[in-house]
Amino acid sequence: MPERAPGGGYSVFTDTMADMTYPEVEQSVRDGAVVLWALGVIEQHGPHLPLATDIYVPAATLSEARRLLAARGIPSVTVPPFYWGVNVASASFAGSFEVRPEVMIELMKDVFANLKKDGFRQVFCLSGHGEALHNQTILAGVKAGCNASALEGSVIIAPAMAKRLGFDLADPHLALLAPETDAPQPYLDIHAGEWETSVIWGLYPEVVRAEIVPTLEPTNYGPSDLAEWRKGHDHSRRKTPNGYFGSPAAADPARGPAIIAEQAQRVADAIAAKVAARPKRPA
Ligand SMILES: [Zn+2]
Repeated sequence: MPERAPGGGYSVFTDTMADMTYPEVEQSVRDGAVVLWALGVIEQHGPHLPLATDIYVPAATLSEARRLLAARGIPSVTVPPFYWGVNVASASFAGSFEVRPEVMIELMKDVFANLKKDGFRQVFCLSGHGEALHNQTILAGVKAGCNASALEGSVIIAPAMAKRLGFDLADPHLALLAPETDAPQPYLDIHAGEWETSVIWGLYPEVVRAEIVPTLEPTNYGPSDLAEWRKGHDHSRRKTPNGYFGSPAAADPARGPAIIAEQAQRVADAIAAKVAARPKRPA
């Protein structure tokens, strides 16, 4: 593998099974590899970021997490990212796709069955898209996939997010991240704002409309604006006619790799904890 920034590499197939051969996949099964899977959605991310932002971010995180896990003796393979997700907030913008939750769940079941067929045992799913229904659907898909295939599957998620979605923190299908320690900010940065723009600009500069970024005024929105935005479709389009919720112009591409490296560390920690808790495979 060529040296590159943490998580970097333009293709979302970077570091995934899609760039492996079948004997390499068979060897990874024999090595006891865990499976990693990013699940995002193709949706608008303002006039400056690509539609695939919610795929690029978790793909980069898992790419870096793989390297951290390998350093701890935990081999892994990454499934090509899932990008036909559930979408409400951006659904009325061009280029935003939404599939029905039942379609996503059925597809996840089949992917789990394929992984079982290959001999894998443990799957970790990471969402790149914050919407409630998308993430609830991922957990439902993991549970359906595990029930149908007898795989062990977990959703990697922050405890605060899990609580907001109504998940039971003791659910065995959750791999909880260490809580974040971000300082509170006066305004919310939710979608295609400072955080996402920094990451995409830092890791995938080819796909950022960098000349537009400094011209984008901050939304300066708080929790009540977010509640309105979350109603989705026309509500969110009225609230954020330019498609972003936050401050893209405050982004700094130099921070992108560090953001992903920090996130990948937390993801690797959560996976390693689950792997350590797993019963040993009979010899
Ligand atoms: Zn996003």
